[in-house]
Amino acid sequence: MFQSVYGAPRGKIDLLIQKKKFSDSVTLQQHDNRGHHEPHNKMTELYEEYKLEKNGNKYGSYDLFKEVFNKTGYKFKKPKLDTCKTCDTYVLQIKQSKDIQQKILLQQHETHKKLADLGYMQNKEDKINALASNNIRVLEFHLEQVLDTPALCTNVSFYKRLLSTFNLTIRDCSENEGTECYMWHEAIGGRGSNEIAFCLYQKILNLLNNVTHIITYSDTCGGQNRNINMAAMLSLVTANSSTLHIIDQKFLLPGHTHLECDVDHTKIERAKKFSDIPIMIPRDWYQFVRTVKGKKPFKVIEMKQEQFFSFSNLVSTSLTKKTVDTDGNKVNWFHIRWIRYEKVYGKLQFKYSLNLEAPFSLRSYTTS
Ligand SMILES: [Zn+2]
Repeated sequence: MFQSVYGAPRGKIDLLIQKKKFSDSVTLQQHDNRGHHEPHNKMTELYEEYKLEKNGNKYGSYDLFKEVFNKTGYKFKKPKLDTCKTCDTYVLQIKQSKDIQQKILLQQHETHKKLADLGYMQNKEDKINALASNNIRVLEFHLEQVLDTPALCTNVSFYKRLLSTFNLTIRDCSENEGTECYMWHEAIGGRGSNEIAFCLYQKILNLLNNVTHIITYSDTCGGQNRNINMAAMLSLVTANSSTLHIIDQKFLLPGHTHLECDVDHTKIERAKKFSDIPIMIPRDWYQFVRTVKGKKPFKVIEMKQEQFFSFSNLVSTSLTKKTVDTDGNKVNWFHIRWIRYEKVYGKLQFKYSLNLEAPFSLRSYTTS
């Protein structure tokens, strides 16, 4: 059935799965004792590799691939480096506690996992809505780990100071998985809030005029994503746009922030692992990323120094920092999970939850 319909032998998939057992980037184990994970993304990653191995020939559907994989008995285990600190703490505390204390901790851990799931569920729903509408866009963005330049394997390189090349990946989830990689190196700019905000600013400006609602997803990294410079930029772009009505900036729960753009990073890193193309200067990285195989090639945008401008200046000259919301309650910036920007520059709504029912509070950065 599998072969006659899809022209793909199960044996090929089995072989790939066996190979994966030895891979260090996706950890597999026989029994599922994994706690809370995001198996869908790992499965997608494995499926993407399977498709690449088919090299243009017919391949089985994702659902069929998943079915065959599940029958092998292997499960995905989250890599140790990627585990959630809160979950790890709960697991340890639960092991060491008893009776009522243990019950309380179990409940607390369950609540935490539900919050993480809420983020993923809402992300999924937003993407479905965006695909069904020409007016909504879902943008996921994440800065890839630093790309060392030159990329050397020799042990001496570990003791040298290498040039850092940066790649901010913005995946437009509403546009058939189109991914743009904004790339630059440390002599052009740093990797702080101004640079990240500017790349996103450029992406938003280039969206079609029919877009009225943008939803962004990122992790909660304060230095890059959840900060006043980014907020000023998003508020400015919403206020100035003739078509855009709302930007919703949503943050996944810390420790549970796996996004589709992380799959893009994995593709780049894996391609590099199996490539012998020399990387000597930042432009080699830009070219390399362009050649990484996938459903759609990555569009690389090479950033120039003069393009990066400072949103910090905009903040200091046009906004007044306030520590309370319009009801006088102290704002806990580090716990904000959702910020909504509408047409009035400097005024933003926020909440500490991604729950659709939870009310927004208002924070004003203007003097009026
Ligand atoms: Zn967790």
